[in-house]
Parts: sequence; structure tokens; C-alpha cells
Amino acid sequence: MFNKRMMVMMAALLVLLLGLAGCGQKAADKPAAKVLKVGAETTFPPFEFQDEQSKEYVGFDMDLARAVGKQMGYEVQIQSMGFDGLIPALEGGNIDLIVSGMSITPERAEKVSFSKPYYKSGLSIIVKADNQTIKGFKELEGKKIAVQIGTTGAEEAKKIKGATVREFNSNAESYMELKAGGVDAVVNDLPVNQYYMAKSGDKSAKLLSEISNAEDYGMAIAKKNGELTEKVNKALEELKKNGEYDKIYEKWFGKKPQA
Ligand code: GLN
Repeated sequence: MFNKRMMVMMAALLVLLLGLAGCGQKAADKPAAKVLKVGAETTFPPFEFQDEQSKEYVGFDMDLARAVGKQMGYEVQIQSMGFDGLIPALEGGNIDLIVSGMSITPERAEKVSFSKPYYKSGLSIIVKADNQTIKGFKELEGKKIAVQIGTTGAEEAKKIKGATVREFNSNAESYMELKAGGVDAVVNDLPVNQYYMAKSGDKSAKLLSEISNAEDYGMAIAKKNGELTEKVNKALEELKKNGEYDKIYEKWFGKKPQA
């Protein structure tokens, strides 16, 4: 009786072991793709945002991140988080790369290592369409300004004399606050303000023509991960050479990148 049970158990074990060996074999034939964890604050269209239908993260940065990952032999996994949480997540090793419309600044460069610039940006202002007094940054003195937390727009707004700066987790909230009359202006990256004006259908707002702070977006890598910085730069260079970068740029901005 006992022996019979032992036999059954051993047979079961054998089947299990063979099964496992089979799996091992399969894995060896086709190694699983290495995963590159990319962090982004995903309410920043047209750079990173969630497609309403597919729920996928889409945008210029997302396409570029996937293309860079592919070039380096990685499968890209996007992790969405608050903008002010990105650098801590990178330093803590929770993500490998930040691709989130992040401007290269000297303060950030003390903490992280930036790739070569991949997009030229700047700051701009949105006010109510009927606002006749605010014409540019000068007139923001003493005014209420909405910004996104942890951004260069927030830093810039805080330098304006007498201004009350209200920091929101997303730009969508800043625009809503302007609409509701809680602030006089929104300071944010130019391409994102332009996208809002073109796509939101918000007729109560207007974009001012003054642009401040020429800023370059860079991908950010942990300082200790110097090898990855080199690989990312190489991949970006290759994508520029083979036309893939231009293709992605045209897809999201409807024109060729400036030389
Ligand atoms: N470019 C700005 C910055 O780096 C804003 C980025 C963002 O909100 N995703 O601070």
C-alpha cells in the first residue's frame, strides 16, 4: 500500500521535474527580454499621457523611450508617478530612467546624470482670454499663479515678486483652477500649453506670446549607472541618424524638428 503511494508520488515528481526542465529549455532558446523601467508623470500631453481607450501611456516621450529601449535591447515598462517623485524613485533604484519632459537644470544635474538634450522647450503663460493686464512675465508680479509641483515653472514663478504660487500635482488641475478663477495665470512648458490650447477646446483661455527660459529636455539616469547614460546617448544618436527620431517628432508635433 505504502509502496504504491510512494510510486505515485515519485511519478508525479518526475513529471513535474520534466516539466520544469522543459521550461528551462524554452527559456534558454529565447531569453526573456531585459526590462527597462521608465518613470514619467503621465499628465503631460503631448509628451506623456494615458490614451483614454487603450489606457496605454502614449506621447512623444513614450515613443522615444520605447525606441531607445528597443535600440539597447530592452523591453520598456512605464511607471507613472508624481513629477516630484521621479528623482527620488531613480535614486532609490525603483526606476532606471526618467523620460518625463524633464528640463536639464544645474540643480538636478547634481543628483542625476542627464542624457544629451532631446527636445528644446521653454516656459510660457496662459491667462483668461479676457485678461487685458497680463501681457508677459513682468505683469505676473503680485498675481496668483498656478504651477505643477517640482517643475521649472514652479521655480520660475517663485522668483516673481509678490506672487502667490499655488502648486498642483498635475497641469490639468492648474488649468482648471484658472478656469474657476482661483488664479490669474498658469506658468507651464510652452509645448504643453500649446497642446492645451489646440486640443482642450477651452475658449476661456489664451496663451501669451512671451517665452522665458530656453530649456532642454533630457532623459535622467542614476549617477551610479554611468554605463546606462552612455548607452542611452548612443541609442539617441542612432535614432537621430536613422530617421526614427524625426518620425516620432513629426507624429506628435506635425512638423520636422529644427536643425
Ligand atoms: N520641463 C519642466 C520641468 O522639468 C516640466 C516637466 C513636467 O511637468 N513634466 O520641470
